[in-house]
Amino acid sequence: MGTMNTKEIIEGAEAALIHTYNRYQIVLEKGDGVRLYDKDGREYLDFGAGIAVYALGYNNKEYTDAVTEQAGKLIHTSNYFYNEPAVKAAQAVTKAAAMDRVFFTNSGTEAVEGAFKLAKKYAYLKDGSTDHEIIAMEHSFHGRSMGALALTGNRHYQEAFGPMIPGVRFAKFNDIESVKALISDKTCAIILETIQGEGGVYVARPEFLKEIRSICDDLGILLILDEIQCGMGRSGSMFAYQQYGIKPDIVTVAKALGCGIPIGAFLAREEVAAAMVPGDHGTTYGGNPLACAAAVKVFELFEKLHVLENVRRVGAYLSDRLEQIVADYDAAVAHRGMGLIQGLELSVSPKDVIAHALENGLILFSAGTNVIRFVPPLVITERDVDECIGKLRKSLDAVL
Ligand SMILES: *Cc1c(COP(=O)(O)O)cnc(C)c1O
Repeated sequence: MGTMNTKEIIEGAEAALIHTYNRYQIVLEKGDGVRLYDKDGREYLDFGAGIAVYALGYNNKEYTDAVTEQAGKLIHTSNYFYNEPAVKAAQAVTKAAAMDRVFFTNSGTEAVEGAFKLAKKYAYLKDGSTDHEIIAMEHSFHGRSMGALALTGNRHYQEAFGPMIPGVRFAKFNDIESVKALISDKTCAIILETIQGEGGVYVARPEFLKEIRSICDDLGILLILDEIQCGMGRSGSMFAYQQYGIKPDIVTVAKALGCGIPIGAFLAREEVAAAMVPGDHGTTYGGNPLACAAAVKVFELFEKLHVLENVRRVGAYLSDRLEQIVADYDAAVAHRGMGLIQGLELSVSPKDVIAHALENGLILFSAGTNVIRFVPPLVITERDVDECIGKLRKSLDAVL
């Protein structure tokens, strides 16, 4: 098979793929460090990391070697057998999250599905009823499969796919009274992102999260934290909730867990995890040795490369630079975030700014309707931030 040029690839994609994305007219070919290269050799500084996935940056040799070595041994086993990488990955992720047990999935949305089922099963074992409710947040994002979609507080995503799974009620993020107003004796769980990502980078206020935790404790309701985007070091701690002094009952992880190889997980404390027994849940690929070997190496490299320290230091630096942009540009109205998940809210759509930045070799994603999102690889340096801010300012000057 011959290789395809940029035009052939783009035309081929538009002819053969179901049209669920409007893509940039760029064909990415390889990456190195925090930079990506397209098929025509153009270089991009990457502040998107494949949507908060590539925490270690591109072409990390130790990571690639670990994946390659495992691929040469065994990629898949089915869950009727044990495999060593899955056990090592389970030990690493439960330790990092301070949870007791884990179930591995292939994606974020599947992790949310599993968490949703676990919460329902736990409540069912307690009172035998099957009409439990779950409280989720407006402007949340939990994934595209039917369960996760039902929990996603965005009518636009749900509209055509009704009816949604019943029993989901939506409260306002960071508004404790709106949560309290929805609680009933049917409530089995409250689910939220510790830092809302897709919704526009909104950080849970400490009082809000702590109060939810204490309501859950008082009423025997499970707290599910979706850390698929903000977890795995992005907030400056391994999981964002660790900076709040609370623990969820169930936590979902994905995106950076495999740093590129698809893997997700839901974790729970022992008593909750015990609600699931053989037959309740399963997956063909989940927990396969290839994806788990990648996750094991990710945890090793996080320690070796002092990723958390880097996130805290460079995150603070990025934060200062974005504050300065808010001070300098009328159309930059607010800045939010933690560690290396940050957002710059504009008074206009960020679409043109992002397109202009892309033309100048900087990859940025949006979030919500009017937020530029910064979710770079967690190994970026202050110099990369300087370059990003320089390019961003140029784009703001050109577009606004
Ligand atoms: C991306 C994301 C998901 C969905 O993950 P997929 O791997 O795309 O299924 C769920 N929750 C949050 C918070 C996310 O950011």
